[in-house]
Amino acid sequence: MFIEPSIGRIKSPERKGQIEVICGSMFSGKTEELIRRLNRAKIARQKVEIFKPSIDKRYSDSEVISHNENAIRSTPVDFAGDILLLSGDCDVVGIDEVQFFDQEIVSVAQNLARQGKRVILAGLDMDFEGQPFEPMPQLMAIAEYVTKVHAICMKCGDLAAFSFRLSDAKQKVMLGEKEAYEARCRKCFFEDKR
Ligand SMILES: [Zn+2]
Repeated sequence: MFIEPSIGRIKSPERKGQIEVICGSMFSGKTEELIRRLNRAKIARQKVEIFKPSIDKRYSDSEVISHNENAIRSTPVDFAGDILLLSGDCDVVGIDEVQFFDQEIVSVAQNLARQGKRVILAGLDMDFEGQPFEPMPQLMAIAEYVTKVHAICMKCGDLAAFSFRLSDAKQKVMLGEKEAYEARCRKCFFEDKR
């Protein structure tokens, strides 16, 4: 159960900025929730811009595409600082796959919010070892709203918060997910963890 963040008045000159984080494991619906909020902001006639790290080339260069193929146009950027240059006068900034940015994303989010923008960041909160995925912890600490969404454990069917890597690869960033990962609950994740 989560409280939907207030989206604020349209084009209010005294509009306050805010930071929202949507986090969870693989297959938890983070991108779907990001897209849902952005679409609702569009209905409220707010100007929306969406960014993602250019490292995430899984599907398409110019779209945030979630696993249910609900697509929304986005701009791939190499560095978090590029978002400051490209967000212009928009009201809402959505950022997907935030875990692939470096720590600079924290000051970028603060800066955007201080300009009065609503900043919505979606990302993996834990890596395949079940450890916090930087810079998500810092973003969760400075956000007004944090929403943790859950997947379903592919072993037992309970709610899942962990991303279990099926292969033996040890690098932290490994793209191309459906074949490589399973959502797992805590018990099933640690039972099979190598
Ligand atoms: Zn389980």
